[in-house]
Amino acid sequence: MGREERKLRKHHDERAKRERKLARKHSQTEQAEETGSGIDATVVGIGPGCCEVLENDRRCLCRTTLDVAVGDGVVYSPERQKILRVLPRRTVLSRPDPHNPRIERVIAANIDVVVVVVSLKSPPLRPGLIDRYFIAIERSGAEGILCVNKTDLMDEPGIPAELEPYRELGMQVFFCSAVTGAGIEQLAAELAGKTCVFTGHSGVGKSSLLNAMSPGLQLDTGDVSEIHNKGRHTTTTATRHVLPGGAIVIDTPGIREFGLWQITPATLRDYFPEMRDLAQLCKYRDCSHTEEPGCGVKEAVGSDRMRAARYSAYLRLLNALRANPTIY
Ligand code: GDP
Ligand code: ZN
Repeated sequence: MGREERKLRKHHDERAKRERKLARKHSQTEQAEETGSGIDATVVGIGPGCCEVLENDRRCLCRTTLDVAVGDGVVYSPERQKILRVLPRRTVLSRPDPHNPRIERVIAANIDVVVVVVSLKSPPLRPGLIDRYFIAIERSGAEGILCVNKTDLMDEPGIPAELEPYRELGMQVFFCSAVTGAGIEQLAAELAGKTCVFTGHSGVGKSSLLNAMSPGLQLDTGDVSEIHNKGRHTTTTATRHVLPGGAIVIDTPGIREFGLWQITPATLRDYFPEMRDLAQLCKYRDCSHTEEPGCGVKEAVGSDRMRAARYSAYLRLLNALRANPTIY
């Protein structure tokens, strides 16, 4: 056997070993799911090999090998400090694993509302980013609302032309200023009783809005919770605030930057709801609404049924996906 051949064989053997190990780990994970009785709780923080659960006012640090995310409903055993099973998820916010885009990482579960925060100035509005957030929200099953912050910096009142298409799509748009307090009450009232996350470009004022909605020291938790695990101190990264108005806000580093996941050039159009009706008029059933003749979407571009800016956003994302299908 030549040197090259030996090297290759070693490589294959090692790969097979790795795969067997992974398969074993996977089956152990499944076995770890137990059916015994326990108590219902919500996951409020995640650490390595452990998570923190909240049951009424009681917090408990639990061991787990299950795939849990912040916001998950679980059944746990307080005595054994162990997660027994994860309850089915209503909604799932996810993003691709940074090291392997084919693996989905759930960043939060059971979120009712995703508040996409934008500002018109400092930083300037990036409508392309809004389109991305809303695609991710469509996938998640949660409701999306748009919050325009820093209205104190706006030259003229009223909805700016760039945001009109979103309102036409039936999206709620809130105008706020964390500095003057304008619109904060209305936003808090909308979120009352719901579990929500705030997302948006850095610097748009997400933290400031949260502070404006929870004056004083009424936050439910501190910033991060120190938890004890197998003799080591670990830190859970999620924060969970119960606002005075009754909204539950979950914040994790991942939430702030979540984007698209598993969207292909062929499925992108499913996430543009205004295209659905128009696509009935297309000559071809699998029309991509770009080059094809007799395209109902293209014919409507520029009208109030298909806004030009949204169609451009579609083309931009489509080209990005065609050039590099794994980036989202
Ligand atoms: P985050 O990165 O989205 O959490 O943004 P921050 O809450 O840290 O805010 C970024 C900057 O914008 C800070 O300097 C805030 O003081 C400022 N800021 C936040 N909200 C407003 C607002 O409504 N009006 C003005 N003028 N500035 C704001
Ligand atoms: Zn078409």
